[in-house]
Amino acid sequence: MITLKSERELKLMREAGRIVALALEEVAKAIVPGVTTAELDAIAEKTIVSCGARPSFKGYNGFPASICTSINHEVVHGIPGLKQLRDGDIISIDVGAEINGYHGDAARTFPVGNVSPLAQRLITVTEEALAQGIAAFKSGGRLTDISYAIQSYVEAAGFSVVRDLVGHGIGRKLHEAPQVPNYGNPGRGVRLTPGLVLAIEPMVNVGTYAIDFMPDQWTVVTADGSLSAHAEHTVALLEDGPLILTQV
Ligand code: MG
Repeated sequence: MITLKSERELKLMREAGRIVALALEEVAKAIVPGVTTAELDAIAEKTIVSCGARPSFKGYNGFPASICTSINHEVVHGIPGLKQLRDGDIISIDVGAEINGYHGDAARTFPVGNVSPLAQRLITVTEEALAQGIAAFKSGGRLTDISYAIQSYVEAAGFSVVRDLVGHGIGRKLHEAPQVPNYGNPGRGVRLTPGLVLAIEPMVNVGTYAIDFMPDQWTVVTADGSLSAHAEHTVALLEDGPLILTQV
């Protein structure tokens, strides 16, 4: 678990976060019907490397690409390839980058061309659930205050939060303690104190929260085939509140 000890350490984590955000921005510009997920992967990798950083995901437990691309009912960890995006798809892009020994991690879900009102609402609810989680990342609170804020917002909107996958601490390693569940009662887990850095990342399904794995052993899908969206930021808790690191 990282607790930032100095202004210098915060600066290094901000730099990692800035590169992740930049890569997401570059990928976002290329999301149109007909583009392949491998092309999106190449754009992200080029952006990350051109900043002097390294894609955190590449080679992580054997993951073969620089980003995760998860389409429609795919929740997370989709592997980029020759598949072309089609008008009406939604695609989640998850990016990680490491520079000077520190990692940033962020994800967003994008519409491809014209999407259904349901798909658009899913994306909006997922982004707002992330915002609610970040707002609950407050000094004096407890870890599961974040979990509760996310779950209650999502369920009030009529969707479900994935339970088998969680957010995480992040710093010198991509995944550090503590785990950050997206559901649960408030007031439990580690005390939230300035210096703590978390990757908060709700995964929201239209239908059941249950998930399955595809035969590639990576791609996570909704058990009922319903649409899923993902939003994530790396966030540092400072004396005056949470600071999103993964923004330009
Ligand atoms: Mg993450």
